[in-house]
Amino acid sequence: MGFYTDCIHAGQAPDDKTGAVITPIFQTSTYKQDGIGKHRGYEYARTANPTREALERNVAALERGKHGLAYSSGMAATDTILRLFGPGDEIVVTANVYGGTYRLFEMVLKRYGLVFRFIDTADLDEVERALTPKTKLIYLESPTNPMLRVTDIAKVAEMAHAIGARVCVDNTFMSPFLQTPLAMGADIVVHSTTKFLNGHSDMVGGIVVLNDDATAQRLRFLQNAVGAVPGPMDCFLALRGTKTLAVRMRQHEENARVLAKFLAENKGVSRVNYPGLPDHPHHALAKRQARGFGAVISFDVGSLERADQVLRSVKVFTLAESLGGVESLISHPASMTHGSVPESDRTKLGVTPGLVRISVGIEDIEDLEADLDRALR
Ligand SMILES: *Cc1c(COP(=O)(O)O)cnc(C)c1O
Repeated sequence: MGFYTDCIHAGQAPDDKTGAVITPIFQTSTYKQDGIGKHRGYEYARTANPTREALERNVAALERGKHGLAYSSGMAATDTILRLFGPGDEIVVTANVYGGTYRLFEMVLKRYGLVFRFIDTADLDEVERALTPKTKLIYLESPTNPMLRVTDIAKVAEMAHAIGARVCVDNTFMSPFLQTPLAMGADIVVHSTTKFLNGHSDMVGGIVVLNDDATAQRLRFLQNAVGAVPGPMDCFLALRGTKTLAVRMRQHEENARVLAKFLAENKGVSRVNYPGLPDHPHHALAKRQARGFGAVISFDVGSLERADQVLRSVKVFTLAESLGGVESLISHPASMTHGSVPESDRTKLGVTPGLVRISVGIEDIEDLEADLDRALR
């Protein structure tokens, strides 16, 4: 089926028993068993829940993958993926990953013997140099947050597979409407469903999609053993969100393109990072490997003082962490999403004090443009 159809129907047929068109919220922790060792596929809700399964099937279909596994947050999803690995295993990571991913790797998982190498994965020579016989995983984010650097996923997958390593892509910024990493050779896709997949800023969740049966089985074991599972209400909300993913993404994208151009032409802005702009260093690659450029833009207004002014002056944009909701948000990466990254590393990444990030919503473009115009003046 086509993508728009799958958003609405994949993995969620009307309820057999009642005919309910929408997958019910199975708000139960346990299930009646019919006898010793006899149950209907459900024993306890950490292990399995029908609302969660519908979400898992739905997003797996959208990513054109075989298995989906939902978690209580994007970080819980990533944490569970990393539990596939052990002491001494080396993980090559995109240097400007989401701040929480950096924190999880460096400040939590490193203690358990995993070795992380943070590099600019957009530079394939750097990737080549970082690989060793101990490399087990290349963890990519493309485009990155908040610098919007783009990594050649197909090329990196080739390089990883040549040494028996796997590739995981955090596809949160693009959503499967714009980018499907499994089709490019990636082995695992991870999302914060909190963002574009849910799209309404009213739940926190994560999901993993992959094709390999054995790895999926291990992740299913870990999902139950570790227990970072989402509640049925959050799964319901995410499922409601994915129904409109295609139409929302189309509008997000269209608005973002207009605002990126507006910002690039604005005198108060020294630099705009958006892969859709022709002068973006990875514009051609972004155009080739994705069906659009996303709706996250970062731009430099020169100083912390000016960034503060802009953030205080906007009226339609809301000053808040997160992204991917229907409403436009504005944030200050250096103090917010990248607050846990040491200052010297932040500077290296380009996360300057004057950098402002916007997540472009689906409001009227005229209102968004006027809002930024006023704030910048
Ligand atoms: C938000 C986000 C995460 C973390 O997801 P949570 O649901 O907040 O735990 C991971 N990666 C990216 C790119 C994100 O934007």
